[in-house]
Amino acid sequence: MKGESWLCPTELDRSRVVDANARVRMIRMVGSGAVGVALLISAPWLGWWTLILFALAVLNFLNVDYRMDKSAHPERVSVCAILITLVLIAAGAVLSGGPRSPALPWLVLPAAMVAARFRPQVVIAGLVLTIVVILVATLGVDPTATIAHPVPVFATLALLAGVVSIVWALQAAELHHRSEAILDPLTGLLNRHALAPRFIEISLQARLTHQPVCMLLCDVDNFKTINDRHGHDCGDAVLRDVAYALRKHLRSFELVYRLGGEEFLVVLPGIDAAAGSEVAERLRAAVERVQPMGCAVTISLGLSAGCGEQVDYDVMFKAADRALYEAKAAGRNRVFSAPEPAGGVGDDLQGQAGELLPPTLAAPTVLAG
Ligand code: GH3
Ligand code: MG
Ligand code: MG
Repeated sequence: MKGESWLCPTELDRSRVVDANARVRMIRMVGSGAVGVALLISAPWLGWWTLILFALAVLNFLNVDYRMDKSAHPERVSVCAILITLVLIAAGAVLSGGPRSPALPWLVLPAAMVAARFRPQVVIAGLVLTIVVILVATLGVDPTATIAHPVPVFATLALLAGVVSIVWALQAAELHHRSEAILDPLTGLLNRHALAPRFIEISLQARLTHQPVCMLLCDVDNFKTINDRHGHDCGDAVLRDVAYALRKHLRSFELVYRLGGEEFLVVLPGIDAAAGSEVAERLRAAVERVQPMGCAVTISLGLSAGCGEQVDYDVMFKAADRALYEAKAAGRNRVFSAPEPAGGVGDDLQGQAGELLPPTLAAPTVLAG
């Protein structure tokens, strides 16, 4: 499953890669068009083979756009596409004169693409690989000419250092602002702004793979009383401890968001209602054990699950919310599951919540009390 990879250890890293790819699509088309025109004009001098390499580069970009939305590991798709770009440019540099090639500065481009998307370790690895490729395409192809006229190599290496450090610095600033926008400052969890785009991806993936998705809506019990009795600061400490307990008892690909106040949403991709209720019970018991600042704190959870086409945010959230309401009404500190959606759901699920779910949760399933 996605999550703990060297490329993208956190959900934030991974969503940055997906987002960067989506944002550069249009600009990349314009840039590729300009390169295509330049190569077409230069072909009589450089050779028509350059257009073949260009066509392969365009196919590579189209392929990454196609695969990115469908892959469980979009960061790997992105890295593969960048490596292919590096190989194509290196082939162009070797075929057009090695150390004298006008394509040498273009070897900087893949390293800049890495710096715009990935964390420092990956950027350094990309930088080292690019230096090796530059040396192979120059010294490796024609050592005598490279040593006699080393200026293009030095200029390319200097350009590499300059471009990568600027892109890296801009990227770090962007990341800082982005973290502020999608991370909840009190608990450090992702907030609801991060939820919408992620859930769209999960639902698309569930539709393609017919995998189940489980949603747990968690709400701290009698939280207002904790605030009233022990003060707002103690309430904040309770929220931090509850958030930590939830995160600690979830695996890396299981997502937890603070929706606001004392409400948290857990999204479990690839997990059905039965397995989801075990997770929910584990979370409930974990929070009960925490006792932040000596307070006895409990949570109630509403569970909903869907499979393939049934994975729709509004439908699942409403079902989980109703189950949570029932859990509260039944005395709190428990997990209630929404009834499973009716079988044989068609393709056109959007906006059919009323048809999918019974109007009330008359007979909820009590999992823990
Ligand atoms: P129930 O068991 O039915 O969920 O009752 P409750 O008291 O938990 O729910 P209620 O909605 O009545 O109260 C929620 C309280 O959470 C009210 C609000 O002041 C408090 N609250 C919301 N956000 C924060 C926060 O960031 N910090 C603190 N300390 N309190 C918060
Ligand atoms: Mg609440
Ligand atoms: Mg509450």
